[in-house]
Amino acid sequence: SLPCSIRSFSEAAGVPVGKVLGTLMQMGVADININSQLDLESAELIATAMDLTIELKETETLENSLIMELENREDSEDSLIPRAPIVTFLGHVDHGKTSLLDYLIGINVVSGEAGGITQHIRAYEVEKDGRSVTFVDTPGHEAFTEMRARGANVTDIAVLVVAADDGIMPQTEEAISHAKAAEVPIVVALNKIDLEGVDSNRVLTQLTEHQLTPSEWGGDVEVVRTSATKGIGMDELLETLLTIAELNEYKANPDREAIGVCLESEQQGDRGVVAKLVVQNGTLRVGDIVVCGSTYGRIRAMTNTLTGSSMMEAGPSTPVNVMGFDQAPGAGERFHVLDDISKAREIAETREDASSQEMLSGVTTKVSFENFQEM
Ligand code: GDP
Ligand code: MG
Repeated sequence: SLPCSIRSFSEAAGVPVGKVLGTLMQMGVADININSQLDLESAELIATAMDLTIELKETETLENSLIMELENREDSEDSLIPRAPIVTFLGHVDHGKTSLLDYLIGINVVSGEAGGITQHIRAYEVEKDGRSVTFVDTPGHEAFTEMRARGANVTDIAVLVVAADDGIMPQTEEAISHAKAAEVPIVVALNKIDLEGVDSNRVLTQLTEHQLTPSEWGGDVEVVRTSATKGIGMDELLETLLTIAELNEYKANPDREAIGVCLESEQQGDRGVVAKLVVQNGTLRVGDIVVCGSTYGRIRAMTNTLTGSSMMEAGPSTPVNVMGFDQAPGAGERFHVLDDISKAREIAETREDASSQEMLSGVTTKVSFENFQEM
């Protein structure tokens, strides 16, 4: 439930704001002003203390009702068809995430990267052995943390890339905890196996110490020895991923309004805002009205993230570059397709207001139940 300010509490209860503040101070709550936020419990306590009979309830916003309905809509079993697994490469910087992805999709991005560091989230859907796979390469673990924090779990399978010469490093550990928190299967790519004198047993021991026991040691984690530069183990890695995908039978309903996640976005001169979205369910089409965080718009054009060719529609698991948003949506924001542009605008504006209020209230005290208990 959203907290309400002391100002709106006094307005709703029809008592002067000074009286509410006075009562709170008498109750021993310090450092408060009219913008301090009350949670539902605290509001009830003050109402009792002031002998007010008020009914406290959460307001139902258009956003709540519409978005919740879209999020929670159940797809009937017979509307579901197989979708491509979404595979994310995670691991310590320089361990070979970008190189592995480059090899798998047959391009070379790594050699053109500024300072050898991935700046963007890359996401491509490719055909492998007649089946589609969506690969996501992250510019480092921060991006993944941010997306997870917003509940935007896009990945189905995590490939933990560990360089055989370095072993488990701090960012590898963070990647492990993210993948575990996301409760997705983990496949380890033990990379740079081509280097002289690497000791893969040392890395297997480290993995075991992190509760990732390799299957060759009786555990349930597949460890594939790879070299992205020599092309070693790449077929095996792909096969392992496709086998996991097959076991999990990822499915979605292409015949509904699209929902999914924004991976990143930017303002690109003449083209305006370009947002990289991944469709998680449904089909996204040119002309659709979309709301994403506090941005909205009608999709003007979409392009394939790998080839740049234009697309009219994007089904489940498809990453796509989308033009038509009024502003750049944030990484990790969920998007929804609505049937009415004025509803989309209203929701976007409500969210924008809410987030600016949050910023304002960030400098005020939040009065909570615990404050009262301390008196
Ligand atoms: P990322 O930061 O995890 O994306 O790592 P990159 O893919 O950018 O790779 C970092 C460096 O390691 C680059 O210079 C790659 O050429 C090199 N590299 C990647 N994979 C291998 C490998 O399997 N063997 C060797 N010897 N070098 C590799
Ligand atoms: Mg990289």
